[in-house]
Amino acid sequence: MKEITAKIQETAARLLESGQVDIFIGWQKGEFEYNTKPFFAHNVEEAKNLVFDEYSIHNLSNYLLKFRDGHEKIGIVVKGCDSRGIVRLLQDNQFKRDRLYIVGVPCPGMKDPLKRMYEDSGFAVKKPADSEMAEKCRHCIQPNPVIYDELIGEEKPPLLKGERFKEIKELEAKSYDERYAFFEKVLSTCIRCYACRQVCVACNCRTCIFDETKPQWVGRETNVSDNMMYHVVRASHMAGRCIECGECERVCPVDIPLMLINRKLIKDVAEFFGPYEAGIVYEEGAKPPLSMYKEDDPDDFI
Ligand code: SF4
Ligand code: SF4
Ligand code: SF4
Repeated sequence: MKEITAKIQETAARLLESGQVDIFIGWQKGEFEYNTKPFFAHNVEEAKNLVFDEYSIHNLSNYLLKFRDGHEKIGIVVKGCDSRGIVRLLQDNQFKRDRLYIVGVPCPGMKDPLKRMYEDSGFAVKKPADSEMAEKCRHCIQPNPVIYDELIGEEKPPLLKGERFKEIKELEAKSYDERYAFFEKVLSTCIRCYACRQVCVACNCRTCIFDETKPQWVGRETNVSDNMMYHVVRASHMAGRCIECGECERVCPVDIPLMLINRKLIKDVAEFFGPYEAGIVYEEGAKPPLSMYKEDDPDDFI
């Protein structure tokens, strides 16, 4: 990864020096070995801080939202999942392609800094997983950037081993009551910190329904009913739009298996309205399936 780091630094310095970009978004090293964090380089000197290592796990595309109302030209490093996030933002008209210079890096799979921090804290009650690779990466079907201006490194094979929707099919095989009881139990521990929303590139509404107070659509309490309402609304907003980056589940402080909900939506959207994978292909003006209406759409439920 040292070679990739050197090439990223070189590219960022070139783009910043020539004025092709005003800001370059990548990662820098933090205090601990497992602490790699998003970084914004503004000049050639700062570009020397950029790194790419096994903890460059954050989906950087979400950070573009900080600049959506500006005019700066932005350089950004993307792995497969970050690049799908960029497609999400372009399709949602949150960003203009011509403000971006995208540097793609095929991803070998990342380690999860939060898991490592937890294991090192002495408070971990669970045994460390067999593989050091982050859970989201073990499910990754798209480690290679889907959109870029230049690519650094060799393309990688998908990291997912085994059947993609195995856990979803197991859930689908349960009765309605069993599924309800399962989700009631796992969602009852949600503390409504909204980390899953904040980290999500697809959660890009300027005014979020959960922040509104007049009217207040969803109660603020952390009881099962309000928690379920939060997750049902968020799920319906993600249908056809979730780019499967796994960031929401990764940052959840109470380990709620959010990807079970997201992958069920991904599977259903592909089956009912697809084949379709959100954020894999960028076509100007293209819309996700649930943002359009066709007369022959299935409507048995109405
Ligand atoms: S989800 Fe895929 S692209 Fe993203 S960090 Fe993991 S392996 Fe890399
Ligand atoms: S990150 Fe976890 S605890 Fe926080 S709101 Fe989302 S599901 Fe709930
Ligand atoms: S819902 Fe989760 S997996 Fe889907 S785009 Fe948002 S953060 Fe990524």
